[in-house]
Amino acid sequence: MHYIMGPHGGTICLLRLPDLCILMHMKRTNYHTHCFLDDGKEPMESYVLRALELSCTALGFSCHAPLEQEDNWHVKHADYPGYLEEIRRLKQRYGERIELYTGLELEYRYEDNRLEGSDLRDDLDYTIASVHMLQDAHTGEYLSIDDPVEEIEMLLEHNFGGDIRKLVGTFYQAVIAMIEHHRFDILGHLDLIKKRNRNNRFFDPEEPWYRRMLMEAVEAAGSRGVRIEVNTGGLARGATDEVYPDPRVLRRCRELDIPLVLSADAHSPGDLNCCFDAALEQIRDAGYTHLDMLLEGTWQQVPITD
Ligand SMILES: [Zn+2]
Ligand SMILES: [Zn+2]
Repeated sequence: MHYIMGPHGGTICLLRLPDLCILMHMKRTNYHTHCFLDDGKEPMESYVLRALELSCTALGFSCHAPLEQEDNWHVKHADYPGYLEEIRRLKQRYGERIELYTGLELEYRYEDNRLEGSDLRDDLDYTIASVHMLQDAHTGEYLSIDDPVEEIEMLLEHNFGGDIRKLVGTFYQAVIAMIEHHRFDILGHLDLIKKRNRNNRFFDPEEPWYRRMLMEAVEAAGSRGVRIEVNTGGLARGATDEVYPDPRVLRRCRELDIPLVLSADAHSPGDLNCCFDAALEQIRDAGYTHLDMLLEGTWQQVPITD
């Protein structure tokens, strides 16, 4: 077998040559995109221009949904009408060359079972649902399990007496509750809890208790027919060594017939398509022949070898 090393947004991916030829002909899309209105980096138009350079078929914007209590990484209520308006303008300007979609990444509140931003669904072409936060039992403040790591440490102490299994268990129970009680198009980064666990800082993901919790969330997604994303964001920015979810659960996802969508979770235009070839390899190795894509306004199964 021949191999070729290729640069992919700063990451070196190893591909078998015949696979590279197949993957080069595949449609490229991304529906998980943040911009300067939330915690992303650049105006929306820069992403469209980059997507055109990459010959993408479709691009969807998914700002973090506006929150009742505003913070510095969700789109502000005051900016939200402008967000919708800018996507409308871009659709008019570039709609002949690329399909553009309006989405939001909704915020799940486990403590009161709310998917914040759901009420805006009528404005949107699609939604991503994610668990990023848990409520601090001491202060009532919502703390992120995503970033910074100090917030995870605070949750660990305040809510779980330092027991990481309880924190991880609560995270996956939140994911499962969101799956069971809410409607959305894409389940965001299923195992985000591993993001700040570099070098097994908090837990060993090989341990049976962790595999069991992760797998329960996968089974819940399977039983509800939920579409999950294979998200290259952590890998592209060096926060993780692998995609979300753990590639070792993809084979079980296939057995459960869970539809997959490939996402960059782009926070800058340079993230688009990043590590997609390596992720596609893993998706194919798990037995998938199709990916879900939102095309011409409907979710479709597109052959990976298209
Ligand atoms: Zn997210
Ligand atoms: Zn995101």
